[in-house]
Amino acid sequence: MVVAYAHINEENNAYKIALEQYDRAVRHLDDVDAGLIEFMRYPRREFTVNFPVRRDDGNIEMFTGYRVHHNTAMGPSKGGLRYSTAVTLDEVRALAMWMTWKCALVNIPYGGAKGGVVVDPKTLSIGELERLTRRYASELFPLMSPQMDIPAPDKGTNAQVMAWIMDTYSMTLGYSVPAIVTGKPIAIGGSEGRTEATGRGVIVCMVSALKHHGITNPANVKIAVQGFGNVGSNAASYAHELGFTVVAVSDVEGGIYNENGLDIPDVLAYVAQNRSLRNYPNASYVTNSELLVLPCDVLIPAAMEGQIHDGNAHQIKARFLIEGANGPTTPEADDILLDNGVYIVPDILANSGGVIVSYFEWVQDLQAFFWGKSAVFENLDRILGAAYQTTQHTAETLKIDMRTAAQVTAIKRVSTALSIRGIYP
Ligand code: NAD
Repeated sequence: MVVAYAHINEENNAYKIALEQYDRAVRHLDDVDAGLIEFMRYPRREFTVNFPVRRDDGNIEMFTGYRVHHNTAMGPSKGGLRYSTAVTLDEVRALAMWMTWKCALVNIPYGGAKGGVVVDPKTLSIGELERLTRRYASELFPLMSPQMDIPAPDKGTNAQVMAWIMDTYSMTLGYSVPAIVTGKPIAIGGSEGRTEATGRGVIVCMVSALKHHGITNPANVKIAVQGFGNVGSNAASYAHELGFTVVAVSDVEGGIYNENGLDIPDVLAYVAQNRSLRNYPNASYVTNSELLVLPCDVLIPAAMEGQIHDGNAHQIKARFLIEGANGPTTPEADDILLDNGVYIVPDILANSGGVIVSYFEWVQDLQAFFWGKSAVFENLDRILGAAYQTTQHTAETLKIDMRTAAQVTAIKRVSTALSIRGIYP
């Protein structure tokens, strides 16, 4: 093992976490060539671009964006675009690596990628956001195509941002190319069910985990969700719809808690009107760190990386941790939680619903033939169910935790593809 963490110096750096998880997993892969193990540690390509955007007041401002392709042995690379001031090259590298394992784990023909721009989108007008998106998209041209790399939304981006990318690409080529991005509006080739897919998948995995532990009555299960964006709000909604008791949700400013359960459709309506959970009635205020340690059965982190660490893991009362966010738990926290008997369904399995339905969207765009929502959800549930069973089987066979089992399964698949393809030239 040659790659050190030389360029990584902060605590809880996402890329350090991704590499540590990888190292833990490959210990269980004695039969894979050591050279291939080394190969899979590296991102294939890393792209940094500095570009200008004209603000509404006429001034020109410079922005920095990234796109990383981690591994493309299984197919074109796939992964979201993040707009956040916290974006760093290391964060993008980590997220790209996790995308490789996620796609391989759920057995869809993609490699892993991720991108991001260092910007707080809330500080831009709609026109500035559009100009930033179109310029960044045009800078990515050498790296993206429906056969090479297909972006999607992530934190801070949405269906409208994908529509601008699709339009920028299509206008340059002179004809419409819907398959260039996923997570688009349905009106221009998006898929039914994509918006709900990640949150729904989190709950599908939670139900499998509960069932595996003999828990089948939803009303008795209390759930706390950190993050009330795309993933958190859709997970809370679907859990509520199935009869689970969602006791807490939060956004960046803090959370709300009611031990008897929140009326999630009412919370959604409140947020739609007030753009925040602040001052929501019928619940008490909790900070984001308090939310993580509330008395509940299931904790769903659905905001960002590094939220559960060695400073708070021992205080977590939930018996099940279902990871909606990417990389919410550090390896040190994993050890503490596993020692305390917490059952963890890892991010690459629990939040894979998004990329699975993105795959369906790409397939529909390429075929120009579109499915109804029930067909989307039926296929999503089937693929997720199979991935859950495979991971569970690997965990039991090798006597390892679910995160390591998910990574072992995925890394094995990628290494098989690499060894069949051979090393070029
Ligand atoms: P989003 O931008 O829609 O929502 C993020 C939520 O987290 C918001 O409610 C925001 O207020 C909250 N938040 C932001 N910073 C926070 C902080 N410091 N503390 C607490 N809450 C904070 O993003 P999203 O698409 O829901 O993504 C959330 C996570 O899920 C990310 O880790 C993302 O990579 C992951 N994920 C998203 C998808 C998808 O399809 N959107 C798929 C797989 C994984």
